[in-house]
Amino acid sequence: MHTQKADILAQRPRRPGLTRRLAVCLLILALPAITVVTAFGIAPGTIAADLHQATVRESITLPDFKPVSAPTPYFTTQERVLRGDTVAALFERLGVSDARAMEFLRADATGRAIFRQLVPGRMMQAETGPAGELISLRYFLSPSSLMEVARAADGFTARSRAVAEPPRLFYRTATIRSSLFAATDAAGIPDAIAIQIARVFATDIDFHTELRRGDRMAVVYEMIYDSGELVAAGRILAAEFVNDGRIYHAVLFTDDEGGDGYYSLDGSNRAKAFLRSPVEFSRVSSGFGGRFHPIFRNWRAHTGVDFAAPRGTRVIAAADGTVVSAGGRGGYGNAVEIRHGGSITTLYAHLSGFAKGIRAGARVRQGEPIGYVGATGYATGPHLHYEFKISGMHQDPMRVALPKAEPVPARLKDDFMQAAAQARATNSRVASAPPARFE
Ligand SMILES: [Zn+2]
Repeated sequence: MHTQKADILAQRPRRPGLTRRLAVCLLILALPAITVVTAFGIAPGTIAADLHQATVRESITLPDFKPVSAPTPYFTTQERVLRGDTVAALFERLGVSDARAMEFLRADATGRAIFRQLVPGRMMQAETGPAGELISLRYFLSPSSLMEVARAADGFTARSRAVAEPPRLFYRTATIRSSLFAATDAAGIPDAIAIQIARVFATDIDFHTELRRGDRMAVVYEMIYDSGELVAAGRILAAEFVNDGRIYHAVLFTDDEGGDGYYSLDGSNRAKAFLRSPVEFSRVSSGFGGRFHPIFRNWRAHTGVDFAAPRGTRVIAAADGTVVSAGGRGGYGNAVEIRHGGSITTLYAHLSGFAKGIRAGARVRQGEPIGYVGATGYATGPHLHYEFKISGMHQDPMRVALPKAEPVPARLKDDFMQAAAQARATNSRVASAPPARFE
């Protein structure tokens, strides 16, 4: 089954970090027990770090594209369209930084369709060169129609064509022994699906720190084939994750307006107002696992939680909101503050830089990148300092109870319960099968 694995998710090249300052975080000095670099304390049963720090690059089989023959490294990423997304925001998340490509798409009769047909949940896949230049782009204009943009010698070309094959379904189980990616690799689950698993369960589980050896997952997902060749990973249809003895379920349900969402088996929305961790989960950040544990202790004295992560790791908005400020802020260094509903504000400090478009007044969506981990201001090393305030009062973001998103609407409850029963049956079949069957 490993021949099926042909997915990709390369960490984009690191941002050039600002010169590391020798400033020392006074707060941290005052509380030596919580210094980031000495935080080796691991909760019993927590996974020890297994450091994959090398640049991650697996190539996908790209049937039709022979873009450039040079041996330069390409980075292939895929992202789903979010509610209210723009092509510019998608490009930013995909690591595409190419004004000429954007101009081409605006001007080209075929390429232009991308601006009109950004449907939440649809997938966009990009291949970029080392400087973020676009090499190729795929976007599903509809579930059966694929637009392809390719860099040619004298500019770009765009075409759209039908994808006749329905997605193929895959069923996999995996058990965590050292890290999520070690488990998904062993089970033949593509990286793009592993990342989706981390996103789907991100409001309940912080995949950086809360995985335990022996955690299990069962997942049903789509893979999209064209003329018999794998083109892309599709959606997760159903998943079950057992973390530290607690079982979480996710079922994909499409409402009558065509919007995809993940729900628990009882119809409650998996999306919650806030993510468990504002640091993007990736192969690179996951490698820092237990060794660079976030600091929970003394948050009250410290007024925040520190998340250690490699410089350049993407920092993401914990919830939907509006940027109050983004800029230099004394000991905080480069910092972003976001106002959310319910008089909640969050602050993200010591950033090496800001994501494109992040400035006062900008709207951000949950999970959207807002900046990059750094060590600006009073910081001993790269980490994210995260604060959470309700009506201006600091709260412990790891403990505060937060509202849930809307459940399945009553009119669709019957449809949903059917889908959920099916997902439960499938998951238990998959979960009870011997793992060898899937390898
Ligand atoms: Zn801090």
